[in-house]
Amino acid sequence: MDLSILTLYPEYFATSLEQGVVGRAFRRKLCSQAIYQIRDFAEDKRQKVDDSPFGGGAGMVIRPDVLFRAWQEAREGALVSHGPDEVATLFFSPTGTRLDQSHFEYFAATPEARAADGASHYRHLILICGRFEGVDARFIDECVDYELSLGDFILSGGEPAALAFIDGIVRLIPGVLGNESSLQMESFSTGRERGLEYPHYTQPREFRGRAVPEVLLSGDHQRIADWRSRQAHKYTAERRPDLLQFANSDHKHSGVVSEDKHSADEDKYAELASEDT
Ligand code: SAH
Repeated sequence: MDLSILTLYPEYFATSLEQGVVGRAFRRKLCSQAIYQIRDFAEDKRQKVDDSPFGGGAGMVIRPDVLFRAWQEAREGALVSHGPDEVATLFFSPTGTRLDQSHFEYFAATPEARAADGASHYRHLILICGRFEGVDARFIDECVDYELSLGDFILSGGEPAALAFIDGIVRLIPGVLGNESSLQMESFSTGRERGLEYPHYTQPREFRGRAVPEVLLSGDHQRIADWRSRQAHKYTAERRPDLLQFANSDHKHSGVVSEDKHSADEDKYAELASEDT
């Protein structure tokens, strides 16, 4: 998976993408990233990227023309090695569809998932980070395929959302994590019907008077599996009852995209929506 990131704060990504399993994935070339400073595409002397909103109101808005030039350069770069259908543009915004694990499974587009037709065929994602009051809506209408939100809160910029997204998809790329079967068991994964994961215990056997549950020391794999499954269900019921609706359903990609997007995206949405039924 190749990623192009458009941002006003390239340094945000510098050390973050060097850490842990994600950093290793980039070093091992299991994925690649290119960062574009949006400001480099301003044409005036002061390199102005924003202006005040038409109609009045607080704050500044990122100009569509400047962002478009940055996007064009990223897209031309992507088209050198990928077909137009393999490139998608994602914009991080609180008004987008709320991100969840099914988006990561969809966009990580592992060969297995592709073969099973359970994922996108994108090989290059262009990630756009907003700032200020946001981005001129005409840029979004013209260039953005998916608008994604990290959650129901307001950040000062799209960079933390882009970082969360990159982390979430890169760890799903085959070969990035040592033990891929663990991916199937994690909280929210479609492999475990999107419930929460069971609690974990390690050494020491006793910690401040709290013992490790006896069953985990039993060596009886079936009993351990049953206990974990019950705990996972209990956690889900207590903490996230909203997730129980997914149990025993085939909702592989439900909620992947919003229905509110632009008509140009409808084919992509239709492709996704057909997975839901
Ligand atoms: N005026 C906007 C908020 C702008 S915040 C509103 O009320 O909806 C500035 C930028 O930060 C946004 O353009 C977006 O790129 C990013 N951002 C803020 N909150 C976000 C969230 N929850 N998820 C993803 N991106 C977010």
